[in-house]
Amino acid sequence: MSIYSTWLTIDDNDHATHCAVYERMPAGDDWPDGAVMVAGGIFYRRTEQACTCGNPPPLVYQGSHVNPSQDGPRGGGVDVAAIPNHCHPQVRGTLTDDGPPVEFVRLSVAEDETTYGGPQPGYAQVVLDRAQVERLRDTLTNWLDTRERW
Ligand SMILES: [Zn+2]
Repeated sequence: MSIYSTWLTIDDNDHATHCAVYERMPAGDDWPDGAVMVAGGIFYRRTEQACTCGNPPPLVYQGSHVNPSQDGPRGGGVDVAAIPNHCHPQVRGTLTDDGPPVEFVRLSVAEDETTYGGPQPGYAQVVLDRAQVERLRDTLTNWLDTRERW
């Protein structure tokens, strides 16, 4: 069981159901071919449309000589996860949720498959736009400022 709690995800799976990347499918009980998710009993499949909900994945890093642009290719992901107070080693496995803050955060970065093979094994690069940087900043500021993490 993971002790980490996701606080922020910026990837290609963070779209609202009304986003143009999804198309509604007929309602049904069985998971239809091509469906990628279900919400409220409605199945959705992916389209080739660009994101319209404001939660696109990061921009693909295309090299140090390429200026990123909002309509550039997107892929990869960033994830921030905290360890809740109740998973602090001092209280883990006890009946209390009243542990002190755990002063570690997990930052995960996944590169788009089109740019695999970076300079070092395990080295991942993504480009964040301003809105994504603001979400990352706000998440990290919240993590730094709060004593009660969940
Ligand atoms: Zn979207």
